[in-house]
Amino acid sequence: MSNKFKQLGLSDQILEVLEEIGFETPTPIQEQAIPLLLGNNPTDFIGLAQTGTGKTAAFGLPLLDLVDATQPHTQALIMAPTRELGQQIAQQLVAFSKNNRDLRVEVVYGGSSISAQIRALKKGVQVVVATPGRLLDLIRRKAIHLDRVEYVILDEADEMLNMGFKEDIDAILEHAGDMPAIWLFSATMPSAIRKIVKKYMEAPLEVVVNTEEISNKDITHQYVVTKVANKLMALRRFLDIMPEMRGVLFCRTKRETEQIAKELGDIGYNVAALNGDMSQGQRDQVMKQFKRRSMQLLIATDVAARGIDVKDLTHVIHHTLPDQIEYYTHRSGRTGRAGNKGISLVFINPREKRKITELERRNKISFEQVQIPSHEQMLSSRINHWADLIINTKVHEQAHLILQELHGQFTHLTKEELLKRLISTQLDHLLLQDGSQEDLNEMLGGKRSEQGKRSGANRDSALDGGGSNRYFINIGTIDGVTRADLLHFISDVSGVDRKFIGNISLQKNCAYFDMDNTHDRGLGNKFRGMRIEGRKIRVNLDTDPKKPKRGKARPRPGLPESGNRKRKGKKGRKKRKG
Ligand code: AMP
Repeated sequence: MSNKFKQLGLSDQILEVLEEIGFETPTPIQEQAIPLLLGNNPTDFIGLAQTGTGKTAAFGLPLLDLVDATQPHTQALIMAPTRELGQQIAQQLVAFSKNNRDLRVEVVYGGSSISAQIRALKKGVQVVVATPGRLLDLIRRKAIHLDRVEYVILDEADEMLNMGFKEDIDAILEHAGDMPAIWLFSATMPSAIRKIVKKYMEAPLEVVVNTEEISNKDITHQYVVTKVANKLMALRRFLDIMPEMRGVLFCRTKRETEQIAKELGDIGYNVAALNGDMSQGQRDQVMKQFKRRSMQLLIATDVAARGIDVKDLTHVIHHTLPDQIEYYTHRSGRTGRAGNKGISLVFINPREKRKITELERRNKISFEQVQIPSHEQMLSSRINHWADLIINTKVHEQAHLILQELHGQFTHLTKEELLKRLISTQLDHLLLQDGSQEDLNEMLGGKRSEQGKRSGANRDSALDGGGSNRYFINIGTIDGVTRADLLHFISDVSGVDRKFIGNISLQKNCAYFDMDNTHDRGLGNKFRGMRIEGRKIRVNLDTDPKKPKRGKARPRPGLPESGNRKRKGKKGRKKRKG
C-alpha cells in the first residue's frame, strides 16, 4: 500500500483514505512538498507545477493534517481561478477528509446564489475554497472572517493574474490577519507573481517539478496541416474514425466554441460548448454529461477548461493554438493524466509550422505530423459503425407487419445482394451528407502534399480539377427527392458511375450537378422521353442559353422508377420511359 506515502509524515487517518481511494505512489510534487509543508510548519511555500501533476493532494493532504478540526473557525483559504477548479479542489479535499467527520470544506464562487453560500459558511467551515471575486464579496459582507486564517493557498496563481484577479488577491491578502502562511502554486513565474512573492511571503521554501518529464511521458504531440476553412471538416473525419474519442477541443473565443458546437451538434455529433458566458447551471450540466461519457467532445475556451479534471481523456485538440505559448502545456495537460496515455493534436495552417518548432524548443517536446483521415477511411469507419448499429438494433414490433406489407419484394434477392444494396444506400447517404471528399491535408508553405494529391483522387477533387461540366436538371425538392435519390437517378439513367457525378445543388424546382467531361457525351439525350407525372425531364448544360423553363409540376414523392426506392433491376430501369 501507500508505503511511499507513509514516509512523508502524513497521519494514519489520511493514509487510510489514500489506501481506500487507491493513491499508492506519491507524484513528484507530493513527494517533495508534503514533508516540507509538514516539517516546517508554518512556512511560506512556492510550488512550480501545473494541473495534472497531483498538486491538489500536494497541498491538500498536509493542509488537512495541519488544520484543527475541533475548532470551527475558518483556518485555511484556497483561492482558485475558476469555479470548476474550485469545485474539483473541494471535491478532492472532501474525499481526503472523509474519515474526519468534524472537518468541513466549502466552496464558494461567483455565478451562484450568494445567500446559500453565506448560510453554508455560517455552519463553521475550516477550509474555504473560493474564486477571488466572490471571496472578496463575502469578506465585504462579513460572511467570512479571515482574522484567524493560518493558511492561504493560491492555486494556479499565474492564471488568476491572467484573469485580472490581481487587485482582488491583493485586497484579500491585505485582509488576512496575522501573517498566515502562504502556499503559492503556479505553472509559470512571471514578474507579477514574483511581486506577490516579494510583497507577502517570507523566505518561501520552493519545489519545482520537472514539468517536462511529467507532461511529456504520457502525451503524444501531433499536428495536422490544413486550411482554416477545412478545420471543421478535418475534425469531423477524426471524430468519425475514432468513435471512442473523448476529448476537449480548445478554441480561442467563446463564439468559436458556440459555432463549432452548433455545427457539429446539428449534424448529430455528441458535443457541447463550455465557456464563460454560460450560467453555472449550464456549465454544471455540460460537465455532468461529459463525465458520464455521453459526450465525445467538449468544446471549450482556455479559461473555461482550466483545471478540468476528467480522467481518461484520450485527446486534447487545439482548433487554434493559444496566443500565450504557456497555455499549450495547460491544455495538453488535460490528457495523459494519472498514468494514462493521451494525444494532443494541433490543427495548424500551412504558415504556422514555426509555432510547432517554438513549442518543441520551449517545452522540450517533439511533435509528429499526422495525416487527416481520408474520405475513404472516414466512410469505412462510419459504415462499420453503421453495421454495429444494425447488429445491435432491437427489432421493432412493427417491423414484422411492414415486412408482410412489402409482399415479398425482396425475395428475389440473395442475402448478399440485399446487403450490398443496403450498404450502397448508406454509402450514398454518407457521400452526400459529408459534403467534401477532398484531401484535407495541406503541405507546409501552402501546397498540397504529394501523398495528399494521390489520396485525393476522389469525386470532388477530380471534378474540381477542371475536367467537368455543370448540368441543369428540371427535378427539385418539390418532387420529393433527396440529393441521394437524384444521384442514383442520374447515374442509373446515364449509365455513368456515381463517382463521376458531384456537387449536386438541389433547389426547389430544379437541380445542378457536375459530371466528369470524359463521361458526359450526349447526356441530355439519355433523358429524352422520360417523364415525371407527365412532365418531360430535361437535362442540359448549365451554360446552355436555351435552358428550358420548368413546367408546372405537382409535388410528387420520389422519381420515376430509377431514382425512386422502387428501383428494379438495372436493365429495367435504363430505358424506361414515362
Ligand atoms: P491535480 O494535478 O491535483 O489536478 O491531480 C490530477 C489527477 O491525478 C487527479 O485526478 C488526482 O485525483 C490524481 N492524483 C493525484 N495524485 C495522485 C496519486 N498519488 N496517485 C494517483 N492519482 C493521483
